[in-house]
Amino acid sequence: MNIILGIIFALSISTVNAHPVFKTLVRKEGSIKTRIENKEMLHLASSHSFDGKYFKIVLKKSNEAITFNHQDPNLLLKAATVYYHLNKSRDFWVNQMKLSHLNEFPKIIVRLELTNQFDEFGHFANDNRSPQFNNALSIPEGETPEWVPEDRKDSWNKEIWFRPVKNIPTKELGDLGPNPLTVSLMALENPLIDYIQNQFNVRLIEEFFYPSYVSRPLHEDLIRYAGTYAMMKLILHGSKYADRLFLDKYYYLDTALVPEIAYHEYAHIVLSDHLEMSHSTPVNEGMADYFAAIQADTRKIYAKVPGHSNARSKDTQEKKKYVHWDESNRMATADFTLSVLWDVREALGAEIGDKVVFHARNFLNTKSSNISEGLLRAILLACELKCEVPRRDKLILYETFTWKGF
Ligand SMILES: [Zn+2]
Repeated sequence: MNIILGIIFALSISTVNAHPVFKTLVRKEGSIKTRIENKEMLHLASSHSFDGKYFKIVLKKSNEAITFNHQDPNLLLKAATVYYHLNKSRDFWVNQMKLSHLNEFPKIIVRLELTNQFDEFGHFANDNRSPQFNNALSIPEGETPEWVPEDRKDSWNKEIWFRPVKNIPTKELGDLGPNPLTVSLMALENPLIDYIQNQFNVRLIEEFFYPSYVSRPLHEDLIRYAGTYAMMKLILHGSKYADRLFLDKYYYLDTALVPEIAYHEYAHIVLSDHLEMSHSTPVNEGMADYFAAIQADTRKIYAKVPGHSNARSKDTQEKKKYVHWDESNRMATADFTLSVLWDVREALGAEIGDKVVFHARNFLNTKSSNISEGLLRAILLACELKCEVPRRDKLILYETFTWKGF
């Protein structure tokens, strides 16, 4: 008996020892609450660094994996968190979405704390060309052209980049304080103001969620779009997008410590056989959000992570109806497309819904697909091939789209 117990004990020790364990940031199952847990790092190819079979986690422009004995505990937490969630995401695609070809995918380099912009002809843009913070992105494979001097030559596979976090003081976003005009404006109920407010909200979402996509400071856009009127409208009625911006002194988004951002970025890579990663559109971002949301298994994704992100979450059940400016690339960071795709899932059921949405990418491309024609058409075409009873299910989908205001 003792011998058997001894063997069981020895086995349990060896399985524990087989995979290094690291502090990892996770969400509590089915909840947006986060906590730090000890997690096993699976599929490692190295015994001393975050170099795995499928992902290699590096610092900035380095090609060497971050070692387990790195002195910065915060960097180790980020490395373990992205390593864990990317492998979990890969498992989802291989096992649940049945994409066994991902086993043959070349290893993906994952860069932490990198501020350089992506340059399709040179990998990293010049260090001082508008450094990036508070966002993440996936880049396509590439190589430097023939004419590039030998010492600058480079070639790379698909990569995922997480930018450093930076506290941006909200006061830098312009003077949004009360104004004596408020009272007289209260009498106005002008559709023009609604339009202006919507434009302003769009701009705020961008500023808040992916500030680095924004080329101009917010106050310049404010003046450009609407000036005082939009500010007044916001002060009068408030805005769900603006509330937190007014309450918090700073905003910040440490993308490496928001689990769904890892799922979102890996989804871009999987979907890139049809949706190339050249730029952000409402359609390609909505598709990546959809698969991030399935893996997150919560109604809201990208929710606040205390101390690491106060960015706005996206809601799979956003009830907003379609308006033409949802098509603007400015809306790529909003949750409207996600909510349209989520309605498809609710209408067809999770299993068929996921198949249909995934298959829809065959009829989409990043350059020209919009929501109202491209995406809806792609969903219906995919339903023709993947739905149980296409004639019936396409009618259900038409009805769903009508509810969304199409
Ligand atoms: Zn994206």
